[in-house]
Amino acid sequence: MIAVYPGSFDPVTYGHLDIIERAARMFDEVVVLLMVNDAKPGTFTMQERKEMIESTITHLKNVRVEIGSGLTVEYAYNLGARVIIRGIRAVTDYEYEMQMGTANLALNPQVETIFMMAKPEYSFLSSSIAKSIAINDGDLDYFVPPFVARRMKEELIKK
Ligand code: ADP
Repeated sequence: MIAVYPGSFDPVTYGHLDIIERAARMFDEVVVLLMVNDAKPGTFTMQERKEMIESTITHLKNVRVEIGSGLTVEYAYNLGARVIIRGIRAVTDYEYEMQMGTANLALNPQVETIFMMAKPEYSFLSSSIAKSIAINDGDLDYFVPPFVARRMKEELIKK
């Protein structure tokens, strides 16, 4: 069974990576789907985000990264996936995720969204917090893998 894990991953964090690793144990194939969102240009280009994710998943043979656009649920369906995975960190994530999950089910009832709880140690972790730390040249060891930390500092610290 193929599962899709969609998101903006701008950039990937240890919280995302934990969900990817857990999903890779449950499904035959996991596609990390970087969705183009014209309303949210973000910090890194899609290609940069893809490279950063790929650098962290080399140990996972059944995981690949794709860049997609349009409706996530349609993209997932056309890829052969019938499951969308989302992570829930805290109650603050719940409302938005419920809205998206319900909308996606209405758009295509053949695709189920499943939610995985963030590990407690990663439940406060987000790409935007990691970016605030990087901008101020703080210690990113706990937040993102070394290659991502290096790329963040190159990009975000004003020379
Ligand atoms: P989006 O813009 O679609 O929310 P993100 O890249 O922020 O994309 O997140 C992708 C998915 O990963 C979302 O389901 C989000 O809740 C989940 N996620 C983000 N950070 C964590 C974390 N620290 N632990 C577990 N899940 C997370």
